Amino acid sequence: MTPTIPGRGDLRISLTSACNLRCSYCHNEGQEFPWAKEKLSPSLNNIHKMIILGVKHGAKQVKFTGGDPGVYPHIIKLLGCIKDWKDEFSGITRWGIATNGVPFINPKKFDALVSSGLDNISIGIDSISDFEYSKPSSPMGISGDSLIRNFVIPLKRNWDGEIKFDTVFIGNKIATSEVVDKARELSLYASVIEVYQSNDVRSSFLELIDETAERHHLEKRLYEFLNEWYLYDKNNNPIIKFYQDHCVGLDCGSCRKIHLRVVPNGNGFAAVPCFVKARTKTIPITDNLDEAIAHNSMGPEWYKGTKYE
Ligand code: SF4
Repeated sequence: MTPTIPGRGDLRISLTSACNLRCSYCHNEGQEFPWAKEKLSPSLNNIHKMIILGVKHGAKQVKFTGGDPGVYPHIIKLLGCIKDWKDEFSGITRWGIATNGVPFINPKKFDALVSSGLDNISIGIDSISDFEYSKPSSPMGISGDSLIRNFVIPLKRNWDGEIKFDTVFIGNKIATSEVVDKARELSLYASVIEVYQSNDVRSSFLELIDETAERHHLEKRLYEFLNEWYLYDKNNNPIIKFYQDHCVGLDCGSCRKIHLRVVPNGNGFAAVPCFVKARTKTIPITDNLDEAIAHNSMGPEWYKGTKYE
C-alpha cells in the first residue's frame, strides 16, 4: 500500500533557500538560513518530478515557498507551467505560493504571477506602516505601505485568486492588528502565525484572538483537526486563522497534518520532518516518499536511532 501524505495532503515545495529579506525569526522551511553561502535552486524538471511523486502519494494541494519563490531563478518559467500542470495533475485541487511579495513588484514577474493559473497567494507582511519595513525584523526591504500600494492593490485589481496576508506574531499586538485590519479593509484573508518566544507571547496571542473576533464581529471556533483557532464570518467562512506555534508542548500530531515539506538539495529534493527543532536534518528523496511520510513531524528527535542520525 503506497503511503499517503497525511492530513490535508499539502505538499510544500521550497523552490530556493535564497531570499531577498533577512527576517530574524526565519525558519526557512528547515533549510540553512537564506544568508548562508550556498544557495540551492532545483531545475524545473526536478520540480515536475517532485510533483509527480507527490501525486503518487496522494498530494491534494501544492504550495511553492522558499526562501522566497520570487527570487527563484526560473520563477517566470515555472509560473508559465502551472496551467499545464493543473491539467496534468487534476487530483491537485489547490496551487499556491507563499512570498513576501517584494520580488513580484518587478513587472515581468508580476505579469507572470497574474497570468499563472495559481489560485492562492500568501503574502508575508508584519507591518503596514510607511515608516518601517513590511518585515520589520529584516534589516532590508520596503515599507508595508509601499508593498500594499505597489503590489497588493494592483494584484487585487488584476487577479481573481485568493489573497491572504500571513503575519508573524512575536508579541506586538498593535502591528499585527493593523495588518489584520488592513486585510479586512481590502476583503482579504489573513493568518496570524505565532512564533513562540515566551509565555507572554502566548498569552498576548490568545488575547489577540478574542480582541480580533470582537473588533470584526466574527465567531471564534477551534478547528480541532489542526488544533487551531479560526474566526468565521456570518457566511461560515474562516476568514482569519490563528496558527499557534505547535512546537510549544510538542503538538507534533497537528503539525504532521499540516504539510509535507520538501527543500532543494544538490540533485533534487529532501524532506524536512521537523523544520523548527531539527533544522537541516533531512531525508533525501529518491523514487518514493515512504520514509519522508513515515518520519514527517515525528518530533525534534525523529532521526535518533535511524540511518539519518
Ligand atoms: S514536528 Fe518539529 S516543527 Fe513540528 S511541532 Fe513538532 S517540534 Fe515543532
